[in-house]
Amino acid sequence: MLPKLLAGLTLGSALLLAPAAWAQKTYLHCGRLLDMRQDRAQTEVTVIIEKGRIVAVERGYTTPAASQDKVVDLKNRTVLPGLIDCHVHLEGETSKDNYLKEFTQNPADVAFSSLEYARKTLQAGFTTVRDLGGSGVNLALRNAINRGQVVGPRIFTAGKAISGTGGHMDPTNGYRLDLMGMPGPADGVANGPDQGRQAVREQYKRGADLIKIASTGGVLSVAKDGSAPQFTEEEIRAVVQTARDLGLNVACHAHGAEGMKRAIRAGVTSIEHGTLMDDETIQLMKKYGTWYVPTITAGKSVADSAAKNPTYYPPLVTPKALAIGPKLQGTFGRAYKAGVKIAFGTDASVFRHGVNAFEFRYMVEAGMPPLQALRAATVNAAELLGQTPNLGTVEPGKLADLVAVEGDPVQDINVMQRVRFVMKQGVVYRQE
Ligand SMILES: [Zn+2]
Repeated sequence: MLPKLLAGLTLGSALLLAPAAWAQKTYLHCGRLLDMRQDRAQTEVTVIIEKGRIVAVERGYTTPAASQDKVVDLKNRTVLPGLIDCHVHLEGETSKDNYLKEFTQNPADVAFSSLEYARKTLQAGFTTVRDLGGSGVNLALRNAINRGQVVGPRIFTAGKAISGTGGHMDPTNGYRLDLMGMPGPADGVANGPDQGRQAVREQYKRGADLIKIASTGGVLSVAKDGSAPQFTEEEIRAVVQTARDLGLNVACHAHGAEGMKRAIRAGVTSIEHGTLMDDETIQLMKKYGTWYVPTITAGKSVADSAAKNPTYYPPLVTPKALAIGPKLQGTFGRAYKAGVKIAFGTDASVFRHGVNAFEFRYMVEAGMPPLQALRAATVNAAELLGQTPNLGTVEPGKLADLVAVEGDPVQDINVMQRVRFVMKQGVVYRQE
C-alpha cells in the first residue's frame, strides 16, 4: 500500500494549475447533497469553494459577502463528489478496424483522439480516472490536462502495461513474424523477475503513477487464451516489490482464478475484471484486502459486439468475447455479497467513452444498493488511488470536484447517466 502519510502529497503536478477564477469564491446552492460521508442526503446546503478546494459546507443557502464571489444555483439538483472511474484507456476506443490502426496511426493521431475521449469522460461527470495502459500518450495527456492546456479528467496512469512474451499486453501479438520483433521491458514485455523489475522502473522513469500488469490472458489480445496464468508468482512478486519501493501500486488484469491467486498472494493492490473468480479467490482477496474493479460494462459490450457481428473482432478474439464477457456481472454480484472491497471501473475504450455511468446500473442490477455503487465510484475509488485526503467526499479540505444530477440517484441510479453539472478543482466544465 502507498504510505498513508504521503497520500496527500502525491498528486504532484495535478495541483499546480491555478486558473484566474481562483481570485473569487464560489457558492454552490445544493437542493440535495450526498456528501458520501453520511448515508442520507442533506437538503438545502451551500458548498463554498476557494482556490480549487472545498472550504465550507453550510446548512441553508448562504449569500456571499464579497461582490466578486459567484453563486451557482443547483437547488433542483442532487450534488455528489466528482465520480472516479478506476479503469479506463483514454488512448483508444472500440471499432472494427482497431487492430489495423496500430499500423496506420501515429502517436500524434492517438493524442488528438485522446483529447476527445478525455473531454467526453469529464463531461459525463468522471473528474478523475485511472488510465490502465496505453502507449505512453496517456502520460502526455495527463500532463497537458494538469497544465490546463486541454480539458479532461484528473488522470492517474500506468503508462504502458506489463506482461510476458505473448501475454495480454505484448504489443506485437498477432503480427507477422518480421513485424513481431522481440519487445522487451521497455515495451512492457518482461520474462523473469529481473525483467519485471526493469519494466517497472522503466514506467516509473517515464512518469507512471502506478503499474499495470496482466497475470492472465485477456479477451481483446490476438492470442488464443483468455484466462490462463501468464506470469509466475515469483515474477509478480518482483514487480510488486519494485513498484512498492518506488511508491507505486499495482493493478492486475486477470480473468482466470490461478493467475488471480498468484497476484493476490504477491500483493497486488487491485484485481481488474476478475471474471472467473472462485470462492477460494474471493476469500484470498478478503484476507489480503485486495480491491476488485469489476468492469461489467466492458464484459457486456464485448459479448454484445461479438454476438451482433461475427467479424467485429479477429477470429481468435470472438470466442473469448462470447465466453468471458457475459460472466462479469454474476462474478461482481458474488464478490459484493461476499464482502470483497469494490472500486468502480468500466474499461471505457472497450466501449465508447462518456457512457461510463452505465456501470452503476449493472452494479445495482447485480444486487448492490445504489448508495454502495456511488460509494464505489467516490470514497472507495479515492482510497484505492491513495487520494482520500483530496478526493471522494464533499467536505472542507477536499478538492472541489463535484457533479450534480436531476432527481435522486439513490431512488433511480439511471439518473447518473445524465450528469447536468461538472466541476473539477473549482472550475465548472458543464452546467445545464
Ligand atoms: Zn483495460
